[in-house]
Formats: sequence, structure tokens, C-alpha cells
Amino acid sequence: MSGTELNITAIPAFADNYIWLITAGGKTCAVVDPGDEDPVLKVLEEQGLDLRYILLTHHHPDHTGGVPALLEKYEAVVFGPDDERMPFVHVACTDGANLRFNDLNVEFRVLEVPAHTRSHIAYYSEGVLFSGDTLFSLGCGRLFEGSADDMQKSLDKLAFLPGDTKIYCAHEYTQSNCEFALQVEPDNPELQTRAREVDSLRAESKITLPTTLADELATNPFLRTRKIDVVEAARKRDPRATEGTSTMAIIRAWKDRF
Ligand SMILES: [Zn+2]
Repeated sequence: MSGTELNITAIPAFADNYIWLITAGGKTCAVVDPGDEDPVLKVLEEQGLDLRYILLTHHHPDHTGGVPALLEKYEAVVFGPDDERMPFVHVACTDGANLRFNDLNVEFRVLEVPAHTRSHIAYYSEGVLFSGDTLFSLGCGRLFEGSADDMQKSLDKLAFLPGDTKIYCAHEYTQSNCEFALQVEPDNPELQTRAREVDSLRAESKITLPTTLADELATNPFLRTRKIDVVEAARKRDPRATEGTSTMAIIRAWKDRF
């Protein structure tokens, strides 16, 4: 879907948010989930960039709070879910919509992934996924407005993307997610390797993202609710656990108390 390689960089915000900046060699740029305008304005001014597109995954203030101030400075078009709680969205996006940005030479497909919020969307382009607070590295979002079944279906949808898809999620939660994942699957060798990698990155305060879908499929318990080791771990918490949604419900509730 995309012709040239996109440059995607993280703008850290608040304690652990990442606002993703997308450029393609020119002055035009897009940002994903600008919860705070200050760090974005600083980077745009430093790099002399023109903000043309704002992509929003869901309505939470730590993903949207910077939008009004950015629109005062830049004539950007705001894309986001079809949700009355987001009056600043110019283009309401539903599942399967294709968003073509010629000056970034990219096309994104909108994927509806409800569960963290009822209207959460993700943006996919060849090799790249902005997953907001639905899929994290080694974790998934809390179920604020959806059910475990919603999360199972949303993650199943993302799991069908190509394995080399780079996942750009909105928070640096990887290390704490990893501690939990190791409780679920202590004997998963790929998870053990990822844990060492994450610990050494975080020891130097380095970013752990992007991750890839293939790596997540091998290590993220929320993408592995049909794997026998994960189902067995859930069964130790609740003997009624079966593959898929019920294991999702049990491990999500376990993580909430972790
Ligand atoms: Zn959120």
C-alpha cells in the first residue's frame, strides 16, 4: 500500500505515552494520538515540519488532549473514530476505510478494534500498524467499554496481518507487561529472550518499540489465548477456562490485579 518508506519516530509524552510522528522525506507530517501539544509543537518547530494529518485511535484525553492547540497552529485534518465524544474529528472513520495521503505516499486502512473503548480504531499500512491502546507489546488494553469477547475478536483481527508488521502502540508498558507475561508462560523461551532484551533496553531508558506482530504472536499472552500453556495457566485461576474468550477474560482480570 505504501510506495516509499515512512519515517516513524516517537515523541514521548506524559509518563509513558508515545505520540508517533510520521514523515516521508518532505515537510509534510502526520501525528498519531497527540495527547499533549507541547512536545509535538517542539518537534515540529525544530524540524520545520508542517502538520497535515492527525490520526486518533480513541477518545481518551492522553491520546487527544493536544488536538485543539495543534489545530490553532496547523491546518491539519483530524481522522478518528465515529464517536460523539470526539467533536474535533473531521473525518469519522469506520472499518475498512482507506485513507490516502498523497504527500506522504501512504494509504492506511482503518480497522475497528473495540474493547478498550467501544469505538477504538487502528491504522494499518503495509508493514505498519498503529494500535493505540488495543495491542501493546506483551499486553493489551484494559476493558473499559468492551468485553473479553470484544478483545478476543479485535486481537484476532490484528493477528491476521502479516507477521513482519511493525506494531506502534501508544504506551511504554512493555517491561511491566513482560513481568506479567512471564507469570502466564514462564517456560516460553521466546518470551525469556524478549524479557532480557526489554530489561536491557529499559535499564538505559530506551524505547522497546516498535515490536513486530510475529514476535507478539510468539510472546504476548493476549494473542495466545488458544495456546495450551496459556489456557492451562488460566485454568489454574479458574478451572472453567477454555480456549479463546474465556482464557482472555481470566488473564485480563488477572493482569488487572497484578
Ligand atoms: Zn486509552
